[in-house]
Amino acid sequence: MDKKTMQAAVFEGGGVIRVREIPIPRIEAADDVLLHVEAASICGSDLHILKVPQGQRGDPGTTMGHEFAATVEAVGSSVQNVAPGDRVVVEPNIRCGVCPACRSGHENLCRNAQNIGQWKNGGFAEYCVVPAKQLHPIPPELPAKLAALAEPLACVLNGVRRIRPLPFERVALFGAGAIGLIFLRVLKVCGVRHVAVCETMESRRRDAVRCGADAVIDPSKEPLAEALGACWGELADIAIDAVGAGPVLAQAIDGMKCGGRILVFGQDGTQRSSIRPADINIKELTITATLSTLHSFPPAIELLQDPALQLDRLITHELPLDEIETGIALMRAREAVKIVLYPRGADGQRRA
Ligand SMILES: [Zn+2]
Ligand SMILES: [Zn+2]
Repeated sequence: MDKKTMQAAVFEGGGVIRVREIPIPRIEAADDVLLHVEAASICGSDLHILKVPQGQRGDPGTTMGHEFAATVEAVGSSVQNVAPGDRVVVEPNIRCGVCPACRSGHENLCRNAQNIGQWKNGGFAEYCVVPAKQLHPIPPELPAKLAALAEPLACVLNGVRRIRPLPFERVALFGAGAIGLIFLRVLKVCGVRHVAVCETMESRRRDAVRCGADAVIDPSKEPLAEALGACWGELADIAIDAVGAGPVLAQAIDGMKCGGRILVFGQDGTQRSSIRPADINIKELTITATLSTLHSFPPAIELLQDPALQLDRLITHELPLDEIETGIALMRAREAVKIVLYPRGADGQRRA
C-alpha cells in the first residue's frame, strides 16, 4: 500500500467528533487483521458517547464506529479464519474469555471486554485493525450497507431467541427507533401477524407503519390495556421494551395477558421504574432481558440474505464519511433512522 494516511472520524471528547487525516493502522500482533472498511452505520449509542456529559464510555482519541462491513486487506502470521479479499463484518466487543461471565457461557456480559469504536479504534475510517476472532465472513453479494447492520440485528436476534415469538402471538413493541424497527422486521419475518408498536413520537409511529406495524399506539395518551383491547379485543402475549425509559415496564405489565413474557432490551442507566410487583404475580408474567450479542452474528448474516427482511427500509441516509457531522446532527434531530457512511467516499458508495 502506497498510502500512509487515511480519513478517520475521531472522538475528541466533550461531544465532538471530527474527521482527521491519521496514519493507516498496521498489523502488530500475529492475530491482527487489517480491514478496508466498505460501509459503517451510526448507532444510537454513538450519540450517547457524543452527549455532554457523556452517556456511555468512549475514550478521546479513539476512532468511533462499531457497526461496519469491510474487506480483508492483510492478515497477521497466525490468522487462519480469513484471507485477503474476504468480506467480513466485525463483532465489536472483544471479550476476555477468562472472567466468571465468559467462563459460564455469558461472554456477552464480560466485564473486561474491549469495545471497538469506544476505546479501541473502530470503523468510521478507511482502514481498521482488529483481532481475527472478531470477524465473521459475509457472502460477496450481500450489499455493504445491509452488512453494516449485522451488529444491531445480532443484538435483536439475541433478544428474539430469548422470547421465542410464535406466529399467532400478539406482540406489544415499545419504541420505533432503529432497534425497535429491526425487532419489527424480524417479527414480520418470523410470521408474527399482530405487532402493535407503542411509540410517543408521531414521526416514529409513521416509520413503524412504513416498516410493517399492524397497529400503532401512543402509550402516553391512553392506558395500554385499553388501547390493545380496542385494537385486538385482547391483551399481549409478549412485550418488548426497545426504549429503556422508566414508564415502559409498568405500561408493558398493564398490557400483558396471563402468562405473558416481557423482554427488557433498551437500556438507560438514568431511568427508574415504579411497578407493583403483585401485578407480575397476579398474571404470572415472565420478565427477561438480553444484552449485546451472543452467538447471534451467524444467524444475523443468514437472515440479512432473506429478501423479506428489508432492513433497507431503515436506511434513511447514505453519506461519505467526511459528512459524518451532518449525519450526527440528523440523528440528534431524529430526522434519520439509520445512516450509512462510506469511508471510501462517493466511489465506494456507488460500488456498495
Ligand atoms: Zn450499535
Ligand atoms: Zn470475560
